[in-house]
Amino acid sequence: MLAADFLHLEKDVETVNSYADIFHLDVMDGVFVPNISFGFPVIKNIASIAKKPLDAHLMIIDPDRYISKLHDMGVEYVSVHYEACNHLHRTIQNIQSMGMKGGVAINPHTPASSLEYILDYADFVLVMSVNPGFGGQSFIENSLRKIAEIKEMAIRKGLNTLIEVDGGVNLKNAVDLKAAGTDSIVVGSTITSSPNPLQTIADLKA
Ligand code: ZN
Repeated sequence: MLAADFLHLEKDVETVNSYADIFHLDVMDGVFVPNISFGFPVIKNIASIAKKPLDAHLMIIDPDRYISKLHDMGVEYVSVHYEACNHLHRTIQNIQSMGMKGGVAINPHTPASSLEYILDYADFVLVMSVNPGFGGQSFIENSLRKIAEIKEMAIRKGLNTLIEVDGGVNLKNAVDLKAAGTDSIVVGSTITSSPNPLQTIADLKA
């Protein structure tokens, strides 16, 4: 939704309702990342007409403050950043205790090995394939190797952890992302800047 037209938000919500699988909500605090996006009033309005699950990606420090509020709004997936949580295991447990899926997001410089002792507890991993904070950036290529390493770690541990990838995803790298072990792609500007957004969603899924 970061790439949505905020003057006509309902239109983009309806596009997701009809053609995509999930609403990805990029929440930024201007501290953890150098930008501010949108907050609860916007999420609440999206939630009121959303027919697909809501996935909140919290690019904020001290995310525990807002987890119950997200739950009350009907959010089903919440990811928090490895780099922003002092007690990541506790935060993931907090998310899961409310019946939501808890994910660990990692920045481009954070190695797959950082997940060694949290992967067993997370429902999903969100691999940032650009530096978080802005839409429309170019895909960082070595994300593919990292995704493959995370997939390998999950298989070694006998886990079904989902891998979600966020940033610079387009029709070209989607094929490689799938091959590396990606389960879910977050796509913004590739869809909104397309002359035919609905076809682009269909092509990405294919
Ligand atoms: Zn995101």
